[in-house]
Amino acid sequence: MRYLITTAIDYTNDVIHLGHAYQKVLADAYARLLRQNYGIENVSFVTGTDEFGQKIDKEAKSKGIPNQQFVDEISKKDQEEQDALQISYDRFIRTTDADHQKMAAELFKKSYENGFIYEGTFEGKYCEGCEEYKTDKNLIEGKCPLHANRDIIITTEKNYFFKWSFFKDYLKKLFDENTEFVKPRSKYNEMYALIDEIEDIPVTRRKENLAWGIQCPIDEGHVLYVWFDALINYYTFGKEIWNDETKIIHFLGKDNAKFHALLWPAMLKSVDLKSPDQIYVNSFLSINGQKISKSIGNVIRPSEIIKEFPSDVIRYYLLKFGPIVDDNDFSFNQLKEVYNGELANGLGNTVSRVFTLAKRNEVKFETPESLFLSLNEDFLNFRPDKSLELIFSKISDLNKNINENKPWAMTDQIELKVLLENYLKEIYFIVLNLKPYMPTVTEDILNSLKNNYEKTNFFPRIS
Ligand SMILES: [Zn+2]
Repeated sequence: MRYLITTAIDYTNDVIHLGHAYQKVLADAYARLLRQNYGIENVSFVTGTDEFGQKIDKEAKSKGIPNQQFVDEISKKDQEEQDALQISYDRFIRTTDADHQKMAAELFKKSYENGFIYEGTFEGKYCEGCEEYKTDKNLIEGKCPLHANRDIIITTEKNYFFKWSFFKDYLKKLFDENTEFVKPRSKYNEMYALIDEIEDIPVTRRKENLAWGIQCPIDEGHVLYVWFDALINYYTFGKEIWNDETKIIHFLGKDNAKFHALLWPAMLKSVDLKSPDQIYVNSFLSINGQKISKSIGNVIRPSEIIKEFPSDVIRYYLLKFGPIVDDNDFSFNQLKEVYNGELANGLGNTVSRVFTLAKRNEVKFETPESLFLSLNEDFLNFRPDKSLELIFSKISDLNKNINENKPWAMTDQIELKVLLENYLKEIYFIVLNLKPYMPTVTEDILNSLKNNYEKTNFFPRIS
């Protein structure tokens, strides 16, 4: 089995913040776990940026910067933010990339030729924040609930429509046959309930209203609707392995669930391609109890936190306390507590104690033959928080065992050697299980283990 792992591609109207970064870390740790379990060659992982659409067009114009230059700058910064968190993507795709533009146009044309795109007139409401057409049912007092500070735009356009409503039965079957299609379960139920409300949607924009998009292949006067183009990035990257031998898993935030769970499989079906196998929908991160937002002024980027805490630590924090099922909160105080507590005092101190004893007593480490990674079953089921709990319970068990056996006071050399060898094996096992979450420090610990415990302090105290 091969795996294709994707994150949502981020909209380049602004640089990503910690909330977006959460999902990248989640998908990255998952990809690393799969690579460790099934081999690097069997896992492909893509992330990137979504660069067309009305919101970007407006943002660039308001700053007086040409659109392409504007998205070049944001995309580069996004990539740097991801690199700061050690996101191990195989490709950082951009929807302005030439191969993607070509692929998006190709699939549009094929869907049209298959009879699923037709000409019509759209009259209705559009939220630029979501880049989405809205019905009155989606609005609260005439405003988008996610973008209450923006005005809804009333548009009338002669347009090309996608026959989304045609795929209701297909979608129901997809959900019925695979009850794990959307996870967590609450999101599955939410998405399933929306199937009946599906209506056809416009999938182009007229150039006189918005020219910043991929050229429509069947009409000079149109560009592709940004969502139709953006979703195709996964296929642009994964086209060679888009088949039944590959398990396709999309990670995304709850604001994008509908497009991934309902529109994307329909688009794929319209061009005779298989649906993704699984969609994992995460919730939102807040900061000190507040929504992350430019207008509140509480936006934090990973590159800023990294000045104070190692990247591994931020990853650990997000994977343990992030919004995996429900919304969750970030605070610097909690991050510091986690660092000094479970990491420095728990993991770091335990490893340091054992390494120091092993070195003093000249106990060599030998790599065990079997390499079971059995502590990550929950993570394979999208619950890294539960796996981390299990792994850290092993650390406190080990610590307890050390306190009870008091190896520093033991006089029987053979007994001591056997005990320390067991401790070293246990540490090796724990650290291998922790690798996907904290790639750098675990590598450091493993190196020291294999090099006569040359390093013993992995989490220096921070004040
Ligand atoms: Zn909106």
